[in-house]
Amino acid sequence: MAKSPAPQSLPAVKVSPRGATRLKEGHVWVYRSDIVSADGVPAGSVVRVTDHRGKPFGTALYSSSSQIAIRMISADTVADFPALVRQRIGDAIAYRETLVRDTDAYRIIFSEADFLPGLIVDRYRDILSVQILTQAMDAEPVRQAILAELTTRLQPVSIVERVDSRVRELEALPPRASGLLQGEKSANTFTMNKVQFRYEALEGQKTGAFLDQRENYAAAAQYAKGEALDVFCYEGGFALHLAPHCSQITGVDSSRPALEVADQNAALNRQSLNGKEIEWIEANAFDLLKDYSSSDRRYDIIVLDPPAFAKSKRDLDAAMRGYKELNLRALKMLRPGGITLTERFGCWRSADKRKITPFF
Ligand code: SAH
Repeated sequence: MAKSPAPQSLPAVKVSPRGATRLKEGHVWVYRSDIVSADGVPAGSVVRVTDHRGKPFGTALYSSSSQIAIRMISADTVADFPALVRQRIGDAIAYRETLVRDTDAYRIIFSEADFLPGLIVDRYRDILSVQILTQAMDAEPVRQAILAELTTRLQPVSIVERVDSRVRELEALPPRASGLLQGEKSANTFTMNKVQFRYEALEGQKTGAFLDQRENYAAAAQYAKGEALDVFCYEGGFALHLAPHCSQITGVDSSRPALEVADQNAALNRQSLNGKEIEWIEANAFDLLKDYSSSDRRYDIIVLDPPAFAKSKRDLDAAMRGYKELNLRALKMLRPGGITLTERFGCWRSADKRKITPFF
């Protein structure tokens, strides 16, 4: 077994009493404002974290530029970070295999939730899509460890990297282009709850699809009836799941490329749609809902899945107004007994028109 280095051999970062309290409460981040000293600590290092008196808290990844200065990775000393990354990737893959059902596309690595801060890996059947979001994960030996472990465990035909330029800027990392890291294939189709989707690894938003909605798609299908409206439909995830159970279905998004893929997805599922056409409308959802709610457009089921309106605290008031407006208009557009499936800060609720749950 590899011998652990003496704790002193890792660079040390001291955190303030407030930062220490957060760590004791189980939080895994320390913000820059709670760093007491990180003198001479190189960007992206694996560091030893202590309170202001020197009491140790364990090992973390250090970012020299993000507001999130410390991301904890272990309560112990970490001797070999790339080896730890490989082990945790293996653990995450094994864990997901016990959980995931009815899909060949799913998130394999969930960053902090798999104790791998800054690493996201999505599987789209035989293609893997990787996002690297912290200085420490971007180090070359760590990148190599990630690719080696994913290849050994999953034998993908190819691995692509999707770069989030905004995050690279926040992390003061040099710009990088999205592209294939391994293999040549960058498109396929995947199946989720028996619905087929086209996947272009280097196109689309996020890593290509909103895989975290899989259970919500299946749940939405259970409520589907009559006329349905999928607002912020992207490539049609909800609309395609609702369509077999509805008499009429409309998807709305402001992104034309997303709607073009949505239409291709509808064609892929022609058989289960049984000749039913889905109407795709390119529009600003706020304008469209305003129009529709003041005219007499009514629906039996409305899905609202807006993007995050608040990227930071500053945007919170405007975001709340936006969410409120969308939800009120959608509720107004429901037929009696109709259902809205709505997202608020990543959490879903269904609201029956007759007993409206307070949303705000
Ligand atoms: N429901 C989708 C994911 C939605 S992501 C799914 O399950 O796959 C949010 C979507 O909102 C994106 O497709 C984006 O293009 C769209 N969008 C953002 N602002 C919009 C606006 N003002 N009007 C309409 N669509 C918008």
